[in-house]
Amino acid sequence: MSESEAALARAVLIHGPLSRRELTTRLGLSPASLTRLAKPLLDSGLIVELDDVADGSIGRPSRPLDIADGLGAFVGIKLTGDRLYAVGTDIRAEPLAWDERPLDDRSPEAVIAEVIAAVHALDVPDLVGVGVSLGGLVQDGAVRRAPFLEWGEVDLRGRLERALELPVAIENDVVALAEAERWFGAGTGLPGFVIVTVGAGVGYGLVVDGVVVRTPDAAVGTGGHLPLDPYGPVCSDGHRGCAQAMLTTGSITAQVGAALGRVVTYGETLEFARRGEPAARAVVDAAADALGRMIALAANLSLQPAVVLAGEGVALFEVTEARVRAAIAAGRDPQAQPIDIHVDDSGFRGWARGAAAVAIQAAMARMHAPR
Ligand SMILES: [Zn+2]
Repeated sequence: MSESEAALARAVLIHGPLSRRELTTRLGLSPASLTRLAKPLLDSGLIVELDDVADGSIGRPSRPLDIADGLGAFVGIKLTGDRLYAVGTDIRAEPLAWDERPLDDRSPEAVIAEVIAAVHALDVPDLVGVGVSLGGLVQDGAVRRAPFLEWGEVDLRGRLERALELPVAIENDVVALAEAERWFGAGTGLPGFVIVTVGAGVGYGLVVDGVVVRTPDAAVGTGGHLPLDPYGPVCSDGHRGCAQAMLTTGSITAQVGAALGRVVTYGETLEFARRGEPAARAVVDAAADALGRMIALAANLSLQPAVVLAGEGVALFEVTEARVRAAIAAGRDPQAQPIDIHVDDSGFRGWARGAAAVAIQAAMARMHAPR
């Protein structure tokens, strides 16, 4: 599928049904170009032409275009180090059913068995594709390295496809989430944005001109070890005050737990900070400053003024918004565009829908492959 055809298919998928006039405006096409681009998509059955609608206007009937019915359902699964989150969706990534289960055993055999069990438990009719996302380096469907699962090389796509007898797409979790945010989430309609996730890890992704950047480094998580605070704690790689050390839920709760002499949860930590408990306040304020610095750096160097904040630890921003914004302002040229922050607080469900989005895109490419 050419990029122009893909853009047309995507517009119809996300926003359809759309009249030809709406499509030419949205995509900046002439009516003749739209007709040329739509023809192979109509021929392949991916999109359909609906009956004329009387919209009151004079002239040619609009014959709106929509995605075809009956293209099946999808499952998206996000793997973390200790849990699996699954969603069944239609082709527009609208959720139909949810499932989640613990991963008590992180071995590839045990995790693959849980993925298969989750797909069966969701029981969505007419399942045509599965997407799985995880933190780590993924290439051509194979996992090269997944630190949270403590995996080295695992042919995850091959093993799941053989077991499920369905096409499976595997993607880095931040890349998949960026895809979902761009498509139907907090980044919808933005030409480009930076995505920063905070949670068990710190993720960084980039969307430029409507396309998710997918270089090998996008899956390494190169934003995770940005130096943010020379006085911060040390990460597992030995960096003082890097993004992981300052912003992961594990590091924040460990620091507060050490100060209070007992184990605390992330929710408790944020609540203590909100109430002004001094140790929690100090740790959370330092995290807020680091988050603001990271957002300003990301926006400055990517030349993108929009930021999507996501991940299961994103409540940090809600508790410390004024402080984060002050740190952003301190790190930003006053003449630069104001930074527009979009928060996705859907947590693990958002990650699972991201995995479904990857499965849907793979299916669309398959349905429209040259025959
Ligand atoms: Zn580090």
